[in-house]
Amino acid sequence: MPAPEESVVHGSKAHPAELPSVDKVLRLPEAEVLRAAHGHTLVASETRGLLDDLRAQAVAGTLDRSAVASQALAKALAARIEARLAPRLRAVINLTGTVIHTNLGRSLLADAALQRLLGLMSAPNNLEYDLDSGGRGDRDSLIEELLCEITGAEAATVVNNNAAAVLLTIAALARGREVVISRGELVEIGGAFRMPDVMASAGARMVEVGTTNRTHPADYERAIVPETALVMKVHTSNYLVQGFTAAVDERTLAPIVHARGVPLATDLGSGSLVDLAHYGLPREPLPQEMLAAGCDVVTFSGDKLLGGPQAGLIVGTRDAVTRIRKFPMKRALRLSKLPLAALEATLSLYLRPERLAQDLPTLRLLTRPVAAIEAQARALRPKLAEALAPRFAVEAVPLQGQIGSGSLPVERLASAGLAIAPTSSQRRGVGSALDALAAALRGLPLPVIGRIADDRLLLDLRCLEDTAAFEAQLSALRDALK
Ligand SMILES: *Cc1c(COP(=O)(O)O)cnc(C)c1O
Repeated sequence: MPAPEESVVHGSKAHPAELPSVDKVLRLPEAEVLRAAHGHTLVASETRGLLDDLRAQAVAGTLDRSAVASQALAKALAARIEARLAPRLRAVINLTGTVIHTNLGRSLLADAALQRLLGLMSAPNNLEYDLDSGGRGDRDSLIEELLCEITGAEAATVVNNNAAAVLLTIAALARGREVVISRGELVEIGGAFRMPDVMASAGARMVEVGTTNRTHPADYERAIVPETALVMKVHTSNYLVQGFTAAVDERTLAPIVHARGVPLATDLGSGSLVDLAHYGLPREPLPQEMLAAGCDVVTFSGDKLLGGPQAGLIVGTRDAVTRIRKFPMKRALRLSKLPLAALEATLSLYLRPERLAQDLPTLRLLTRPVAAIEAQARALRPKLAEALAPRFAVEAVPLQGQIGSGSLPVERLASAGLAIAPTSSQRRGVGSALDALAAALRGLPLPVIGRIADDRLLLDLRCLEDTAAFEAQLSALRDALK
C-alpha cells in the first residue's frame, strides 16, 4: 500500500488512515490465540479500545509508525487484556511500621483460616443446616460455643463488623429510648463512625453525662431514669485523655446500672482475646474481663488484635444476646459464610495458646524480636543501597512502629528498618525526590508502602516476613528510577 501523503509530512509518525480495522486485528494469529483463551467479547472490546487510543494519538500526530505494525498491535492488545483482567485489590508490602493498618486491610489471616476457606468455599456446607437433626440450623451456633468458651460469655453472636455490632446492640436494646454515655467517650473512629451519629442511626436518644475529662459514679446515678434503656461504655481506643481525669470503670458501674434494672454495654474496639502483657506488649482490656466485671454486652472487632477476618463480635448474657439476635436489623448485618469460616478457624487457634504467637500472623508480627528486625535491616541495607545508588543513600536505623487500628494509641513498638535520603547528586528538592521514590515503590508489582518523615523515606521491616519477595523487586525498582 502506498504511504498516504501526510506520512511524508509526519515523517515516522503514523497517519490515522494507516490504522487497520478491528476485524483485521482480530484475524491476527496472536489475536486468535487470545480469543481462544478469553472469548470474542473481551478481545473485540479491547481491540476497539486499543484502536480508539491509537487513532487519537495518530490524529494528534504523536503515534510512531512502528506502533501500527501487526506484531506491535498484537503485543499491545495482549497487554491491554492482561491489564483489564488484573485485580484492583492487590497484595502490598506493608513497611509503614503500623502492624494492623486499616488502609492496608488490617489483620492477615492465619494459614489455618486460609486452608479452611479453600477447603470449604467451592462446596456446599452446613451454614444453616443442623447435621444432627437434619433440620434448619443457625449460623451463629457454629462459633457461639467457641466464643463462649474463650470469653466466658453465656451467649455470642457475630455481624459484619464492630460498627455494625455497636449499631445493632444500641438499636436492639434501646431504640426509641435513652442511652447514657460519658462525654469523655463520644469517640469518632475515622469519619463515618461517630458515637453520637451511631446513637441517632440506631434510633436512640443519647444522654451525655460528666465532662470531657471527668465522669463520676454520681453522674451516671443522676442520669439513669425510667426512660433509660442502656448505659454504654466505649473504650477510647484511638486517643488518650491525660492529666486531671476520672472515668468510671465497668466493675464500679455495673452494680449502679443493674440496681436500676438497666443493662450495661461496652464497645471495646480492638478487644484482644489474650493478655498482651504476657508477650511483653502494652495491655488492652479483654472481653472476658469486661464480662467478669458485669457488662451485659461486649462488642469488638474480628480483624484488629483478634487477628481474624472483618467481623463484629457480640458476647454477653443470654438475655441481652437473644434480644440482639432477634432484632430484625441483625439479618441485614449478618456475617457471610466466608468470614464466618475464617473466624471459626481463627478462634480455634486460641484453644492452643502456647502456639498462638506462631500461628496468628498479627501476634507473630507484633512479637517479632527487635534484634531479628535489626539483623534483617543490616542484611537488606547494601542490596537496597545498590538499587538506589547514586541518587539515594540507605541507612539501617532504629524505628518506632505502632500496633495500629486504634489499639493502644500512644504506645510505640520498638522496631528497626531502613531510612532512605536523597544524596547531593539529586538535582530536585528533597521532598519531590522522596515523593518520586515513594511512587516508584508503590508502582512495583508488589507495591511497597513506607512512610516519609524528617526528609527521609522510612521502611519499617517489622512486617516484612518474606524478604525474598522484596529483594526480587530491587532490579525493577532500579529500572523505575532510571
Ligand atoms: C475500630 C473500632 C470500632 C469499629 O470497628 P470496625 O470493626 O472497624 O467496624 C468501633 N469502636 C471502637 C472503639 C473501635 O476501636
